[in-house]
Amino acid sequence: MAATTDYDLVIVGGGMVGSMLAALMAHSRVRVAVIESTAPAPFDADSHPDLRMSAFSPASQKLFRQVGAWSLIESMRLCPYAHMRVWEEPENLLVKKLLSGHGNETHFRADEVKQSALGHIIENRVAQLALHQVIEQAANIDLLMPEELSSLEYKNEQVGVRLKSGAELKANLVVGADGAMSQVRKLINIGVRSFDYNQHALMALLQIDGPQQDVTWQRFTPTGPQSFLPLPDINGQSYGAAVWYHNPDEIQKLQQLPLDDFQDRLVETFPERLPMVQRVIAKGSFPLTRRHAHTYTKPGFALVGDAAHTIHPLAGQGVNIGIQDVGVLAEKLLKAHDSGEALGSMKVLTQYQKKRMQENRKMICAMEFFYRTFSNDIAPASLVRTLGLGIADRTGPVKKQVIRYAMGL
Ligand SMILES: Cc1cc2nc3c(=O)[nH]c(=O)nc-3n(C[C@H](O)[C@H](O)[C@H](O)COP(=O)(O)OP(=O)(O)OC[C@H]3O[C@@H](n4cnc5c(N)ncnc54)[C@H](O)[C@@H]3O)c2cc1C
Repeated sequence: MAATTDYDLVIVGGGMVGSMLAALMAHSRVRVAVIESTAPAPFDADSHPDLRMSAFSPASQKLFRQVGAWSLIESMRLCPYAHMRVWEEPENLLVKKLLSGHGNETHFRADEVKQSALGHIIENRVAQLALHQVIEQAANIDLLMPEELSSLEYKNEQVGVRLKSGAELKANLVVGADGAMSQVRKLINIGVRSFDYNQHALMALLQIDGPQQDVTWQRFTPTGPQSFLPLPDINGQSYGAAVWYHNPDEIQKLQQLPLDDFQDRLVETFPERLPMVQRVIAKGSFPLTRRHAHTYTKPGFALVGDAAHTIHPLAGQGVNIGIQDVGVLAEKLLKAHDSGEALGSMKVLTQYQKKRMQENRKMICAMEFFYRTFSNDIAPASLVRTLGLGIADRTGPVKKQVIRYAMGL
């Protein structure tokens, strides 16, 4: 029989959120194991960017800095952006006529809130690699990778964790950071409230003309938003990403197009301010589902990140709220460990759930509002939206509040 290894905390999933939790526990007296099924490919400075990337808020940046991962990301690559432009191009002729002469764009600027950047675009793998470097240097953490969860058993305030390799671990607390389809969530019977959006996202990686961009923009159309994300220059070549939201059938058709044909469609359909596209390097499509777990905690267990919630990515907040989850959870766990409390006790875990569930619900509602308000072509709604974006641009205090909320400040 395999020997059992004892830990205080086992984190299932060493993606960005699970690895951030481990990094926040680094160099403490809490014994931690991280189980990750897939080792990320090593960083290659000459390779073009990955298709999977996220916009990280200053609030997330603060935690990356706190654990010592930000300088590691900087030593690989990242792209700050200081501007964000949001507008609607009304398709309705009546609305177009009524609006002629009115500005219908909101331009958010970092300097309006005395910051140098609104956020940074970072490839998910780069963020994950930086966090793995941090946790690999911590004597109190074992990164078990590649390793996969097989089963969980809660008994006498301890969780038995069996891995596919046959290894057995024991922990006081198991955290499910294993993504949207979380196996931990299923094994411990936590249900989710879920809704499939009638919209999928297609991400395309672009090689573009000109210098590195520092603006991200989003145009709302009745079929879904179209956005641009800037990416870091590599060996003097500029890159960016286009995100195209549309109904699932249309996204499937776009995904099936050869890259050259897709490029023609993209340039034809996207706003003129899309930088000149030299070539589309890759594209991938993603179904979009809103999920929210009925609870984040059970005795001996907690859920974080996408395992607890997934939201529409139109405002780039998914991983940011996951990182805030583990910021709060780590603080509660470190405090509990210092005062000799069991990490898996509901007394400790309820504090985490209380603080994060309400906040995440607010963000889910905000994304729902944007999705439902902007993805239609009803003339009065279009008029109000378009005027609203113009008014928002001229209403200083409201605009600053929106910027600060999106930045997590
Ligand atoms: C198109 C798109 C664009 C997005 N853009 C943004 C953005 O700009 N900004 C933003 O904040 N968010 C964005 N998001 C959301 C963001 O990608 C997710 O919120 C984030 O990746 C969640 O991180 P996570 O660590 O919780 O989960 P995941 O990234 O899913 O990581 C889970 C990890 O667990 C591992 N794992 C799974 N099962 C097991 C198992 N049984 N045993 C061991 N390991 C396991 C996996 O290998 C993986 O590494 C976007 C999402 C999409 C779809």
